Amino acid sequence: MPVRVRADLAAMPDYVPGRKIAGAINLASNEVSYPPPAAIVNAVAEAAASVHRYPAMGSDDLVRRVAAITGVDPSQVAIGCGSVALCQQLVQALCTAQDEVLFAWRSFEAYPIVTQVVGAVRHTVPLAAGHRHDLAASLEAINERTKLIFVSNPLNPTGTALRTAELVDFLDRVPEDVLVVLDEAYREFVTDPDVPDGLELARGRQNVAVLRTFSKAYGLAGSRVGYCVASPEVAGGVRKVAIPFSVNRFAHAAALASLDVEDELMARCRLISAERDRVREELIKIGFEVPESQANFVWLPLGERAAAFNEHCVEQKVVLRCFAGDGVRVTIGTPEENEAMLAAARTFPG
Ligand code: PMP
Repeated sequence: MPVRVRADLAAMPDYVPGRKIAGAINLASNEVSYPPPAAIVNAVAEAAASVHRYPAMGSDDLVRRVAAITGVDPSQVAIGCGSVALCQQLVQALCTAQDEVLFAWRSFEAYPIVTQVVGAVRHTVPLAAGHRHDLAASLEAINERTKLIFVSNPLNPTGTALRTAELVDFLDRVPEDVLVVLDEAYREFVTDPDVPDGLELARGRQNVAVLRTFSKAYGLAGSRVGYCVASPEVAGGVRKVAIPFSVNRFAHAAALASLDVEDELMARCRLISAERDRVREELIKIGFEVPESQANFVWLPLGERAAAFNEHCVEQKVVLRCFAGDGVRVTIGTPEENEAMLAAARTFPG
């Protein structure tokens, strides 16, 4: 008998990354289109001199820095190899086989994968009208096996965001032995003051964890670093299941340096958010339905026309993220890149 991998892996979805096409405009992966400031490049280059040594286990300096910024105790912070690793570590820390992980579908593609890796069971709740989280249906779906609920706010891939009153009401009703993970990968692009800061909601609630990442607003997608703020119990579990040294020396240096130039990076986010609103209006003028977005992307719920629109844009050398049969997610790039996307959208015959 040849060696066989676990039989259930055959049914596990692959994480399909955005397509890379040489010479094309890349609006597929919710990255920031602007290169890093020199201070970050220099910090990474400096870190290279110590590459023969392992990095700090647990990224202590970054933990302390994040704790100070977010106003929590360092025992409540865990750093991970991208927030996607922290998604998996949270499931590993909380769930054993057959425990349930609840999340909206469609939402972030990694949620079903990290759930299945651990042998837990995914329990999905369809989106509500307006391409939004259905919090009422999520509450109804909770049962005695539910251990963890992922709430992406804003929601990837639709960009819609939950407001303070509805999210507080939801958190008040979730049983205290179920962890709600507020995945705020796109938090820095939020412009509506009524979209709550998860860190504030988590204060005083031991069953709320918040995920943030350096991949999006901080422009460090290539370095793979994110953080989790949670109760000391949950953060400790997340650290415990981490692969030792998985946050490498370059990622650590880049993240710390990015916090030193935060003002510059946040100014860039404001430009991207303004572009998002402009692009949305232009797409609506062309005739597309576009839900209001609070992230650095917009969603075109094209249904059966999604694949045709995506291919049309690829022909115009603009690469987007297509979820065939459902919609196309368009990352907001530089104004020039956005114009190229809009030009392609204007000539879509469908
Ligand atoms: N959460 C959400 C909602 C995301 O969209 C993404 C990235 N696409 C992540 C987490 C993971 O980001 P990273 O691993 O780069 O921090």
